[in-house]
Amino acid sequence: MIQLYIPLGFLGVLYREIKQSLTDLEKMFSLLEKEREVADAPGAKPLVLDGPPTVRFENVHFSYEPAREILHGLSFDIPAGKTVAVVGPSGSGKSTLARLLYRFYDTSNRANGEGRITINGQDIAEVTQSSVREAIGIVPQDTVLFNDTIEYNILYGRPEAGHEAAVAAAEAAHIRGFIERLPQGWRTMVGERGLKLSGGEKQRVAIARTLLKNPPIMIFDEATSALDSANERAIQAELRQAARHKTALVIAHRLSTVVDAHEILVLENGRIVERGRHADLVARGGAYARMWALQQAGND
Ligand code: ATP
Repeated sequence: MIQLYIPLGFLGVLYREIKQSLTDLEKMFSLLEKEREVADAPGAKPLVLDGPPTVRFENVHFSYEPAREILHGLSFDIPAGKTVAVVGPSGSGKSTLARLLYRFYDTSNRANGEGRITINGQDIAEVTQSSVREAIGIVPQDTVLFNDTIEYNILYGRPEAGHEAAVAAAEAAHIRGFIERLPQGWRTMVGERGLKLSGGEKQRVAIARTLLKNPPIMIFDEATSALDSANERAIQAELRQAARHKTALVIAHRLSTVVDAHEILVLENGRIVERGRHADLVARGGAYARMWALQQAGND
């Protein structure tokens, strides 16, 4: 009997190890897929930061494929601790901006000495990629959950933070009560093979993850999926709270999210066609005002 137990116990350990390596492999593949695009400059040093920085896009051109330029020379600043929102039709290039800031790709015109993105004056293509990514938290449209416990999923990115920190982040992201009411609580398995979370719950997990990471720069890619309006308002409030004192880029699909932004950029076909604060843009009676009127009519 004893002989039987030992191999079974060993198999249990082996199973956990294989499962862990599969998760790590998944992470590695998804990172490698992106990292093939860019490499650290020789002798690159880490980004130097002291609190929320200013982010600057300077004449940024970008094409995924040489024959088709997606961004045609964009310039804007996100001042330290402020939120800039980007709105515009599907395909106008909003998520591409976020991908460039996270340095999944380099700008297409940097070879000519143009097309820079800087963080406190430091060109993100000149400092180490890992230091740029450490400084940025992303709440994506659709959060990937690992096949593991909800606690693992919240701690993902900073596992050493520990349970108490996960609880505090979940509390701030308004998902603690939900987790603690589950029969298995923090040990509930989620992901493909576990409990399926709704779009809103997944976004709250992403917000909790980002709060735990506590980066000085945040990117929010608002979900397009229709959440019910009570949920939507709650998530917006959580995002606003999370972005306080951070330098934030918000890609917004619902204009109600951007009313308080320091600046709103209206993107069309890779160009900024209007920019300003909400009230000024509504008063101007242009593209933004038309989008606002349409959404108001849809919501009421
Ligand atoms: P949405 O509001 O629908 O999310 P978006 O404004 O965020 O759209 P982007 O995702 O930035 O738009 O895409 C801008 C353009 O770039 C689109 O025309 C898209 O087809 C193209 N594009 C996006 N990703 C790639 C890619 N990996 N390879 C080639 N073209 C791409």
